[in-house]
Amino acid sequence: MPSTLLQKVWDAHTVRRLPNGQTQLFVGLHLVHEVTTPQAFDMLRARGWRVRFPERTVATVDHIVPTRDQRRPFGDVMAEDMLSALERNCREAGIRLFDLSSGSQGIVHVIGPELGLTQPGMTIACGDSHTSTHGAFGAVAFGIGTSQVRDVLASQCLAMEPLKVRRIRVTGRLPNGVFAKDVILEIIRRLGVQGGVGYAYEYAGEVVDRMSMDERMTICNMSIEGGARAGYVNPDSTTCDYLCGRKFAPSGDAFDRAATWWKSIASDPGASYDDEVTIDGASIRPTVTWGINPGQSLYVDERLPVASDVDPGSRVATEEALEFMGFRPGDRIAGTRVDVAFIGSCTNARLSDLREAARVVRGHHVAPHVKALVVPGSQGVRLAAEREGLDRVFVEAGFEWRGAGCSMCLAMNPDRLEGRQVCASSSNRNFKGRQGSPTGRTLLMSPAMVAAAALAGEVVDIRSFGEH
Ligand code: SF4
Repeated sequence: MPSTLLQKVWDAHTVRRLPNGQTQLFVGLHLVHEVTTPQAFDMLRARGWRVRFPERTVATVDHIVPTRDQRRPFGDVMAEDMLSALERNCREAGIRLFDLSSGSQGIVHVIGPELGLTQPGMTIACGDSHTSTHGAFGAVAFGIGTSQVRDVLASQCLAMEPLKVRRIRVTGRLPNGVFAKDVILEIIRRLGVQGGVGYAYEYAGEVVDRMSMDERMTICNMSIEGGARAGYVNPDSTTCDYLCGRKFAPSGDAFDRAATWWKSIASDPGASYDDEVTIDGASIRPTVTWGINPGQSLYVDERLPVASDVDPGSRVATEEALEFMGFRPGDRIAGTRVDVAFIGSCTNARLSDLREAARVVRGHHVAPHVKALVVPGSQGVRLAAEREGLDRVFVEAGFEWRGAGCSMCLAMNPDRLEGRQVCASSSNRNFKGRQGSPTGRTLLMSPAMVAAAALAGEVVDIRSFGEH
């Protein structure tokens, strides 16, 4: 029987079916960080349990690290305590930790792929919602909560509900000025923030086939924002080329054998899906969120919704979002003044994202009223960008060039919005208070659009921006 990748990987990792209908899955790689693990390690300690497979567990520090001054001890006592706890837990359990002195520290979903830890056909778990990022490699990757982190530390297994698979084919070619971020925002807008509940999303079609691994990661990263439990792309030559030579990827003959197996776990032609959706890539335009969830978005040349015009089920949410954002129904989103521009996060802080943003910024200057910052996704990305001189491009344009971390994606460090500030952001969530101020407002968009907004001081259409 032809199978999907999800089915093949699921079957290969099934330990047993549980009486409640769940599957006990073996987890090939457990990625841990400082925020969701201290209690999990404490729970283990309280029961006298040890970490079952420390060699399958890898740690980094990302959420709470300051990005301006990373000297220890951190100014924030709680952040310092969290990092100290992670260091102690990793030391005691024999877990490899990529800390600030490692040269490989960064956002957990950036360093996993970058180091070649993330590989096709794996099951991957991490205590962060955006673990779906690793699906770009044809891994089946789940974000988990603290009690599940404990379970995986103790048993290397996870009890999971079976998932349906929706294949989302993005066909044709993307127009100029349209990026992977616009594609995933389009998918979420069309299918809804709850549309993926109970599903894994399999991304396919010519647009996805042509994408780089960085772009595929951007798409898979935001699967969770569409309600999907996981998202993946079938492994192909692009996947293998990316992994070849990475530190923890197989090498020599082992790599060739692995590559053959990786390609074999792709969904078979003729595999059946629980649902299929096709989107014409040529129809997508640069997209900006206007509301308080990632599904509340529009094309940059569209007007804000009028509550009475939207379907009755969305009316209350539309009114609430417009009120929180302080937007007038029917106004254009283009021209919205921004106070902060943030290029960062596990969605869009890889080298190709920084290159694209730098291409927009080069030779221009940030608008006087805008605070603009670039936070590379990892120390590796930062170093590679500096080798290309991208840091100078950003700094000369008036951006701040920071150390690697999650930064203003979640604002668990000193990088935060203040008051009602509006932030053009390359991150993945625009929930109320997400960027550190309860009343702060987030507009999600591609890194190129964030760069253009930083220069113009307002939301602009990247397609015509260079003509001014
Ligand atoms: S960048 Fe944001 S979404 Fe990604 S791991 Fe950090 S806090 Fe989570």
